[in-house]
Amino acid sequence: MATLVFATRNRGKLVELRELLADRGVDVLSIDEAEARLGVTIPEVVEDADTFVGNAAKKAREVSAATGLPALADDSGLEVDALDGAPGVYSARYAGEGAGDAANNVKLLAALDGVAAARRTARFRCALVLADVCGRLGDELVTADGACEGTILDAPRGAGGFGYDPLFFAPELGMTFAEAGVGPKGQLSHRARAMRAIAPALLGYLAGA
Ligand code: IMP
Repeated sequence: MATLVFATRNRGKLVELRELLADRGVDVLSIDEAEARLGVTIPEVVEDADTFVGNAAKKAREVSAATGLPALADDSGLEVDALDGAPGVYSARYAGEGAGDAANNVKLLAALDGVAAARRTARFRCALVLADVCGRLGDELVTADGACEGTILDAPRGAGGFGYDPLFFAPELGMTFAEAGVGPKGQLSHRARAMRAIAPALLGYLAGA
């Protein structure tokens, strides 16, 4: 069975990837599990690139180098058209380092104050990158991305989810991500789309690893 490290400490993301790769002969380890099993310490990666794919590539390379195994990493965020793509790669820290989801949502609503509904278009984006620096891939990377289009409401709706979910209205669902909850959101989210996009190349690579 091939072993893959998913460069995340987020339980939800791990569950999503394991579901996608179920019965495909891949043992998916989180960062914590890789550290425990291999007896190594994986350093925290500073996400200072100016693109999602740049941050995901940095994480995948560093985790692959620290473990000697193939590593998959993701980076995601929200792009709002009326804000020229902000908060983008700064989505997690839009209202300042350690500010949290509520403060980020307050700042987003303030930035869009007075912007008409038709101009509040936005999308969640996710980049996924596979690195295997000690294996056949060497310096090369396998990448994929996914996006989910929507609009930013002028007040939060729904109690589920995280991040910008209460403000993100997804026309495909007819509700916000926070109202939809994990099940329906999981099928069409940016991350689900990126995972489905990378799955064939990822499985093909691991089968020959
Ligand atoms: P990360 O890729 O997990 O580091 O996510 C970066 C930030 O983007 C998160 O802290 C959220 O603010 C935002 N974000 C990414 N994906 C989602 C999502 O599915 N819902 C809501 N916010 C998200």
